Amino acid sequence: MHNETLMPENTPAGMNDFKPQVSPEVRHEAGALVDKYGRRITYVRLSITDRCDFRCTYCMAEEMTFLPRHEVMNFEECLRVAKAFVSLGTTKLRLTGGEPLVRKNVMWLIERLGALPGLDNLVLTTNGSQLERFAAPLKAAGVKRLNVSLDTLDSERFRQITRIGDLNKVLRGIDAATNAGFTRTKLNTVMMKGVNDDEFVTLVRYAVDHGLDISFIEEMPLGEIHGRSTTYISSEETRERLAEHFDLIPSTESSGGPARYWRIPGSDSRIGFISPHSHNFCDTCNRVRITAKGELYPCLGQNDAVNLLEVLRSGADDAALRQRIIDSMGIKPYGHDFTQQMDAPQVVRFMSMTGG
Ligand code: SAM
Ligand code: SF4
Repeated sequence: MHNETLMPENTPAGMNDFKPQVSPEVRHEAGALVDKYGRRITYVRLSITDRCDFRCTYCMAEEMTFLPRHEVMNFEECLRVAKAFVSLGTTKLRLTGGEPLVRKNVMWLIERLGALPGLDNLVLTTNGSQLERFAAPLKAAGVKRLNVSLDTLDSERFRQITRIGDLNKVLRGIDAATNAGFTRTKLNTVMMKGVNDDEFVTLVRYAVDHGLDISFIEEMPLGEIHGRSTTYISSEETRERLAEHFDLIPSTESSGGPARYWRIPGSDSRIGFISPHSHNFCDTCNRVRITAKGELYPCLGQNDAVNLLEVLRSGADDAALRQRIIDSMGIKPYGHDFTQQMDAPQVVRFMSMTGG
């Protein structure tokens, strides 16, 4: 494990310097996870696999080497980690990956998480490929809300972006989610100039027509993929383009995350923008991420992590696991440092490793 540091010496110069810090007594308040900047951590994003049935160009390299099975947390280990976080005040947990729904027997874990006292908000991010099959069982298990990635409504383009995916299957999956009773399902669209920017208006119309929310995401430099800077579009540019077609009304609503929302009169759909580059949201960060191999990353945009798998497999008790989690608060930096690194990322993990 990394040593706990009270000064952010491992973080890049810039935003992480000179931020007021909270004393260890406050941070280690019983039953709560508070980082050294006073931010309370109540939201965990748990990646349950690094594998996926798609190979989205912005997320993975064409040839990926996946983790051997024994290096991936088994479901009992995932559940133990989730319980430890809930005992430290976590109320929201998002299952992600890789593609969470391609993991074998995934409902075993989801049913247990859905029944975990104190975990009020179990949610899932998926590429939608398996939703036709899983929508009803997910709803029955207590999953509250789904995020489905959708960058285009053109089948050929969908195939190019995902390298392998079938758009119609995903669209049927979205309908299956609605039919199973999911509401406020959110589409996630990564914005890429020259790739899908001519479809933003169509995607918003699709969301409105189907009673969905949609968030546009600025592409983040995770993993070595060249040419990202040529496709970068800011949220602001997209919002201005959408405003030529829709009456966008700023909304004060928040889903507790980094998105800023707009509404369209006469529709319930929310149009969100996740703008790690143009609108830094780190000051209200309430989350940590856990990879499929049990590494706890306090920040998506930095390389420091603590190893939970080692504790899980050492025979140590739950108190030791909780202590390792509490210790991770010492390395949570004030923020990421994406803007300067689009084509030469400082963060070498792909998004599929950390879990988006
Ligand atoms: N497979 C699931 C999916 O695609 O929704 C869950 C995992 S995926 C890594 C989670 C989200 O991360 C997706 O919405 C995807 O579009 C987004 N994502 C992946 N790589 C990204 C990148 N480099 N920048 C911004 N978003 C990215
Ligand atoms: Fe798979 Fe999701 Fe990454 Fe696409 S974004 S390759 S669907 S993990």
